[in-house]
Amino acid sequence: MTQQEKTSQVSGFYKLSIKKRIEFVKQFAGLNQEETKLFASALDEATADRMIENVLGTFELPLGIAVNFKINGKEYLIPMATEESSVVAAASNAAKIARLHGGFTTESTEPLMIGQMQLLNAPDVVQAAEEILSNKDKLLGLANAQDKILVNLGGGAKDLEVRILDSPLGKMIVTHLIVDVRDAMGANAVNTMCEALAPLIEELTGGKIRLKILSNLADKRLVRARAVFDKEKLGGDKVVDAFLQSYTLAVIDPYRAATHNKGIMNGIDSLIIATGNDFRAIEAGAHCYAARDGCYTSLTKYYKDKNGDLVGEIELPMAVGIVGGASSMHPKAKLSKRILGIKSAQELGEIVAALGLAQNFAAVYALSTVGIQKGHMSLHAKNIAVMAGATGNLIDKVADQLVKENKIKLDRAKELVAQFT
Ligand code: NAD
Repeated sequence: MTQQEKTSQVSGFYKLSIKKRIEFVKQFAGLNQEETKLFASALDEATADRMIENVLGTFELPLGIAVNFKINGKEYLIPMATEESSVVAAASNAAKIARLHGGFTTESTEPLMIGQMQLLNAPDVVQAAEEILSNKDKLLGLANAQDKILVNLGGGAKDLEVRILDSPLGKMIVTHLIVDVRDAMGANAVNTMCEALAPLIEELTGGKIRLKILSNLADKRLVRARAVFDKEKLGGDKVVDAFLQSYTLAVIDPYRAATHNKGIMNGIDSLIIATGNDFRAIEAGAHCYAARDGCYTSLTKYYKDKNGDLVGEIELPMAVGIVGGASSMHPKAKLSKRILGIKSAQELGEIVAALGLAQNFAAVYALSTVGIQKGHMSLHAKNIAVMAGATGNLIDKVADQLVKENKIKLDRAKELVAQFT
């Protein structure tokens, strides 16, 4: 496939056999034979044993591909590791609709992470804060001495900020070390720097450093994505209005916002996992950012443009890496990065944002129109058929009948299994 022919837009992808889907991805991403074989392989024991403690084996998740994504004019197939049915299909559908207006546009800040150092028992907090700030260059120099690789790549410790906080234990100082982590997620890099700075801060201030650790509220490392969803394609003005009514509840009510943002994370986590990134870090950052103004709210924004089309936007912290951690160790994470064809952690972060927006749009659109269950039903019916004891071809036969009867219940599935065998 030449660069010009390369498109992620494909219809009926779900109808292809797994072999044909892999062939499509192989052509799209220029995968070699070895890489193609990885799809069917599990993580080897030796690698797993190096990743965590007390390993017994591995735990598999389905890996699917979201199609139709066009982001900043570039075509992407997006690998998604998830156990939840309908998520991959919904993202692909949303991307198909977004394409009508050119797909997604994205942007991001520099990859700046924050490390925190908590200082207690300083004899004079104001003087201690001044002491830290007046020694900024010395402290940044010491931090950068910990990671020459990062510094040589143009990253490294860039700034220090000092906060004085009231607490039940009295006043404490929290020093933030701002580190440009380039293509890493950055936790190890930042934690190492913070630990190295602690003795010097204690010496400068006469206080005691307690915590020294990265903050997962990575609000200096933000990604943004935007897309326009065509009014006519959605079903006209009334549907756009219904969409905005549904969305508004997520803006004003944390009970709805939690579910709304969970839908965003359905997409985001699946790509984060597929690329070997830390989904707990992304989750923590996203939800904390959603409450940044004191009330937990939607991570997405929607409004009508002057043509009446629906505009969707998302902004959230994005601590992702393409080097370090499992992203460099897990063979499937490396494969996912090859499929994406990404060149930097920033590019990955922006794709993650576009996927989160697509996922959220698809969920709210379904909720505003046919409801969420319709899309879930055919795969859900298959799960129920398996629970009822169906195997092989019987799974589809029972599931089809359950859908036809609109009665996706375990007791009915058991009756059908008995009837068909
Ligand atoms: P890492 O230490 O494995 O890799 C980062 C290092 O790779 C950098 O410090 C740099 O020396 C080197 N490097 C080489 N090429 C680079 C490039 N192009 N850009 C940037 N660095 C480059 O990984 P990390 O990203 O520092 O840490 C990530 C891991 O830390 C994840 O596995 C995460 O789960 C874990 N972790 C997370 C938390 C948290 O989120 N609170 C806390 C502790 C650990």
